[in-house]
Amino acid sequence: MSADVISALLVEDNPADVALLMKLLQNSDAKSWQITHVKRLKPALEHLHKTEFDVILLDLSLPDSQGLETVIQIQTAFPHLPIIVLTGLKDELFARQAVAHGAQDYLVKGQVSTELLLKSVSYAIERSQILKRLQESEHRFREVFNQTFQFMGLLSPDGVVLDINQVATEISNFQHELVLNHLIWESPCWQSNEKSQSWLQEAVLRASQGETVRSELQALSPRGTSWWFDVSVKPVRNKDGNITLLIAEGRDISKLKRAEAEIRRSLEKERELNQMKNSFIAMVSHEFRNPISAISFGVNFLEGCDLPAEQKARCFERIHRAIDQTLHLLDEILLLGRTESGRVEVEYTRLELKEFCCEIVENFQITQGKSHQIIFVSEGNSSEARTDASLLKHTLDNLLSNAIKYSPKGSVIRFTLTCQGDQAKFCIQDQGIGIPQKDQPKLFEAFHRAANVSGIQGTGLGLAIVKRCVDLQKGQIYFESQERIGTTFTVILPRNLIQIEHKQAVEDYCFQ
Ligand code: ATP
Ligand code: MG
Repeated sequence: MSADVISALLVEDNPADVALLMKLLQNSDAKSWQITHVKRLKPALEHLHKTEFDVILLDLSLPDSQGLETVIQIQTAFPHLPIIVLTGLKDELFARQAVAHGAQDYLVKGQVSTELLLKSVSYAIERSQILKRLQESEHRFREVFNQTFQFMGLLSPDGVVLDINQVATEISNFQHELVLNHLIWESPCWQSNEKSQSWLQEAVLRASQGETVRSELQALSPRGTSWWFDVSVKPVRNKDGNITLLIAEGRDISKLKRAEAEIRRSLEKERELNQMKNSFIAMVSHEFRNPISAISFGVNFLEGCDLPAEQKARCFERIHRAIDQTLHLLDEILLLGRTESGRVEVEYTRLELKEFCCEIVENFQITQGKSHQIIFVSEGNSSEARTDASLLKHTLDNLLSNAIKYSPKGSVIRFTLTCQGDQAKFCIQDQGIGIPQKDQPKLFEAFHRAANVSGIQGTGLGLAIVKRCVDLQKGQIYFESQERIGTTFTVILPRNLIQIEHKQAVEDYCFQ
């Protein structure tokens, strides 16, 4: 619309009414008019598609459209076009309904003056421009509301959700009907967490009294996983200072929370490692001190006096035992260190497991004398395997030495090898002191010794090494034990380690 020219589309099929309106318009000296006249709705719509009009003067009873329908069709196709309905006296009710459906005004034919017509047209144009600006502003606000990374909800002061933005819609899995017009703490995403729900309830109460409240809350994501939000609830006051609205906002901090948990875990691990290092140092100094003192004492003793040959031999024997003990301890520490740092290479050799176990048992019988009876039984047809001989020897040596160490002299130790399919099972059963229930969960941790072993020498490293050896051989280890009845350790290993490693390598390759 230029300042002085109003372009209007007149849709009227009654020539007398047209003539009357034209006359009124000509009388107006304030504005000049550019009138396009049509008699039916169809050509009116065609004109509107081609040309931009400032206003439409619309008769409701047209040959091709009647009543409200005429307004609705134009309103739907051109929502920003101001419509002034022209109506007869008897149709005034219709005209009012038309205004309720978006027409700006109505004029009763026969009761219109030039002045009234001009006023109605300028108000209609002005109102429709204000409406357009309002809609644009609402659109801008909605865009900002939706584009923010935070979830946002507008709440009534008692916590009913009036509106939510796009992020909140996604959080609530697009279930508007379960969110809008419901209390915020009843939304599906908060329902799994009572703590979050009661915080929101409290937050709404405090915000409605003027406070801004903020906290980290846990919610349930649509996929059923846990979500963390940094949530705040703020009051909004009207110009009289009354709280009319609350804004609930929340930033997804799940990643941050996960990182925090990771850091906490690392710190905990570091603390455990430090603790382990300290107990390691304490243990090493203690365990080395005894045999080295024995060696030192023996050497001094031998130097200091001229002893009979028999006493000398006993002294040498003690020195040798102490040296063996020290070397064994050193070996264990070194092996544990190597397995911990991943420096142990698994070497596959073809082994006849039955022969291999027999040899280990024989060695024990030679070194232990007849203190215990070790009964070895092999079950299954073939006992051939492809595995790491050194890791397997460490495993069985440790388990057998424990069985001997923790069971009374003269008792029986049963060692069973069962080869079946692609697995080899090793069971070592003793009738010894057993392992207290309380110690069982920590048994494979380095330096852990059960409460019932006082007086029996050991460092608590053997089983930690066994566990790592079994893991390296891709096997499993478990035990059953009852105090004062006995203990059975079972190790299950794959018989063809190469095949497994190869399969793993192929899988790793395929997943890359
Ligand atoms: P070492 O490092 O010299 O082997 P250790 O025997 O004390 O010392 P592990 O072999 O790691 O250490 O065993 C850890 C603990 O588990 C033992 O101290 C003991 O309390 C318990 N334990 C292991 N095997 C048996 C068993 N067969 N019977 C009873 N207790 C056992
Ligand atoms: Mg041991």
